[in-house]
Amino acid sequence: MEPVYHRLPVVDAGGMELHLPICDIGPGRPRMCVVAGIHGDEPSPLVLVDRLVMALRDREMHGAVRVVAAANMPALLQRSRWSSWDEEDMNRIGDGDGGPAVTRRLAAAVVAACEGCTLAVNLHNFVMRTPLLAIQPPGQDRERRTRHDAYIGALDPHVVWVFGDGPDDVRTFGSSIDAAIERRGTDVLAVEMSDLPELDEPLLARGIAGLLRLAAHLGCIDDRERPGKRNRVYVRRRLVRAPGAGIFEPIAALGGQVAEDDVVGELIPLERPGARVPVRSPERGWLIQRLGRRFVRPGDMIFTVGRSV
Ligand SMILES: [Zn+2]
Repeated sequence: MEPVYHRLPVVDAGGMELHLPICDIGPGRPRMCVVAGIHGDEPSPLVLVDRLVMALRDREMHGAVRVVAAANMPALLQRSRWSSWDEEDMNRIGDGDGGPAVTRRLAAAVVAACEGCTLAVNLHNFVMRTPLLAIQPPGQDRERRTRHDAYIGALDPHVVWVFGDGPDDVRTFGSSIDAAIERRGTDVLAVEMSDLPELDEPLLARGIAGLLRLAAHLGCIDDRERPGKRNRVYVRRRLVRAPGAGIFEPIAALGGQVAEDDVVGELIPLERPGARVPVRSPERGWLIQRLGRRFVRPGDMIFTVGRSV
């Protein structure tokens, strides 16, 4: 099956036309829409969707899969989280609410591209080294949670990041593009992974097998994948940020357990070489995300500890 490339018109912005590029593969209406590139500084999902389309080309298909590889082209071309044209975070403006800003119009187009599908998979990456991680959002009713559990079973991520059902969590999620897509009747599965330098083949293989199992779950292809490894943990996530500027040197192993006050890494301060500052875990749990050796500024994300739920 060959992919069909087409475009949704978005806006004629003063003589410059913008489109949302779309790739459809398979017969009939799309049942699954895989979205990448909502944040312009997160290129890893593009590798995953390329592998997905390559894999689907060789398969007999019973239903279509849609891929939006570059949801936020202005931000991607600037290699920044959001576009400087309007400084809007595409992940946090729902369906754009009819607003004229380019990012809002693009968000509306992404939501429209997902409409009619059973499932949208929203792919992101962190700068921190991150295993295949699925998000369990707040506020799901029992039926929706049952479907979500089935999607997570098919994807088989290493980690499920469970949000609380508190008012802050519900409010944050309510303004997301995922919530806007769900309001139009399409389920959303949000997935995170490592940034390009640390997107290794085992992580890619786990991601692509998961997306193919999801396509099979929705009836787009026959299920030929190996069953998942099911070695996943469900966690609440606690984020630790850099206490100062310098080089972060990782010490504790990613994916391992840490106790409260364990040293996860050290900060080599910019202004005081030879006076390393230990960065400790605030609580006991799994070290689910961690920077490699990186230059950090005060407040940059350096690791997260997951407490099992
Ligand atoms: Zn993102």
